[in-house]
Amino acid sequence: MVRRYFLEKTNKAHGGAGWDLGQWLWSPTGWPWDKMMEKPKVGDYIIHSVSHKGSQHFYGYSIVEDSFIIESEEPPLKNPWSGKDEYYKIPVKGFSVVPYLKIQDFLNSNKANLEKLVPQKSFYNEKDNKFSTSQGKYLSEMSYELFCLVCSQIGITMRDFVKIESLKSDYQTEIITKDLNGTTRRVSTTQQRIIRDTSIVKKLKKQHMYKCQICGKQITLPSGSFYCEGHHLQPLGSSHQGPDIKENIILVCPNHHLEFDYGVMGYDPVKEQITHIDPYNEFHQKKMSYLRDDIDESFFKYHMKNIYNK
Ligand SMILES: [Zn+2]
Repeated sequence: MVRRYFLEKTNKAHGGAGWDLGQWLWSPTGWPWDKMMEKPKVGDYIIHSVSHKGSQHFYGYSIVEDSFIIESEEPPLKNPWSGKDEYYKIPVKGFSVVPYLKIQDFLNSNKANLEKLVPQKSFYNEKDNKFSTSQGKYLSEMSYELFCLVCSQIGITMRDFVKIESLKSDYQTEIITKDLNGTTRRVSTTQQRIIRDTSIVKKLKKQHMYKCQICGKQITLPSGSFYCEGHHLQPLGSSHQGPDIKENIILVCPNHHLEFDYGVMGYDPVKEQITHIDPYNEFHQKKMSYLRDDIDESFFKYHMKNIYNK
């Protein structure tokens, strides 16, 4: 496999829930740069950068989880790119933040190094012996040499990427996609959730007989084994940076997982009751099917404050 390296230029808001920075790369289709969105493949390395007060700085890194899908639903956050017909979405995983470094400062202090590289169409331009950040390019490919140069300046190594290669992903359970030939299909990623569980989640599920903490139900698979999902109350990726510890994980069935993910349902640890945006929902203001004393209240509070009803 030939690995490719890309730099994403975006902003922290990125697109809103389900389109978060560090979880997805996304762009409307039909734009001059859109063929670039068809390049990233599983295992490619991504460097993320965001703009702040008019200048772009390096922000984090991740690995491509799967090649692009095309979705017709628009991102929830209104921005110049919302309201389009179709979007490329590329799931990434293992997002981690890097120290602050402005791209322009990187270009200035590495002029000699950049001059040694083969001229390339990437995230910068060279004109009159000056390097500057290229404008309006969402995704830029980097040569291996350029990628290594960037990594050395933001204090990360190949080992950091290797570490996140085995991490589980957390992308939606079902996505409507379009093939290149235009056929719409539904893709279930449930299988990936099963395979990529961390050992912490596996252990928790076993301990609690795979029962949803909200409804108490347990799904039996044709093989006779049980199935439920672990939800991180403070999400792992994106701007949330939640920890992968049992204190931050609630066990839920796929329906209630989705409701927690989308902030439809939450749990108020002070009132000790479930809360649902639909007051007529059967679980609204009810107790959980069972509580676990190893969940840290602060993560329920985090979910209530930042995700529930947002
Ligand atoms: Zn449930």
